Amino acid sequence: MHSPEQLPELVRGVGMTSQRTRDRMVARLAEKGIRDPRVLTTMAAEPRHLFLDEALSHRAYEDTSLPIGHGQTLSQPWMVARMTELVLEAAPNRVLEIGTGSGYQTLILARLVPELWSIERINALHRRATERLRLLEARAASLRLADGGHGWPEAAPFDVILLTACAGELPAPLLAQLADGGVLITPLADARGEQWLTRVRRQGDTFEQQRLESVRFVPLLEGVIR
Ligand code: SAH
Repeated sequence: MHSPEQLPELVRGVGMTSQRTRDRMVARLAEKGIRDPRVLTTMAAEPRHLFLDEALSHRAYEDTSLPIGHGQTLSQPWMVARMTELVLEAAPNRVLEIGTGSGYQTLILARLVPELWSIERINALHRRATERLRLLEARAASLRLADGGHGWPEAAPFDVILLTACAGELPAPLLAQLADGGVLITPLADARGEQWLTRVRRQGDTFEQQRLESVRFVPLLEGVIR
């Protein structure tokens, strides 16, 4: 990828990827209702531009989702911020993310939670994310290539499970791997195909669902692409 000597400069960015541009993005996030200072500070510090192809990096700090190849997208900064706020609200120790994608949401979480596991089903994305997170020394994160619908049984139970792809129904293995009192945060499609950010809270064997805002995510798919 890049030599270690180039790294500090690359991470800091210049022009459209500079600290000023990141600060403007974060100011917009705050205007749009993101309140948690830990989320704003972390997103101001971390290089979203390194999670995109070079041809797109100048757009990294626009509040928009962007393509990362294989028909997948890097979520809009506002969405990453909102999901991270929801994760932190649960004050978790152990977090599972389904849909590593570029690894940007993974990085933000890795800076803010003690232990993080993240699963991706497309090998090319998994490998690139692994490389980036190693470079950025995101040691809290463990990554795996697998179908996330099965969860990560050896590391369960989790205080929070976060899906960054939209399911039609909640995968049973994920509900089973949720700690008592834990929450699952996911886009969920209704019968008309409209997607809702949904929070599911486990109390014993009861799962209480709360519908939050309307969202737009790529679908949760089965199987692994090597
Ligand atoms: N948080 C990511 C979002 C990427 S889009 C980012 O900001 O970059 C959602 C990702 O979920 C895609 O990479 C897609 O391949 C992945 N995905 C979809 N179904 C999956 C499954 N069953 N298991 C693991 N990953 C899945």
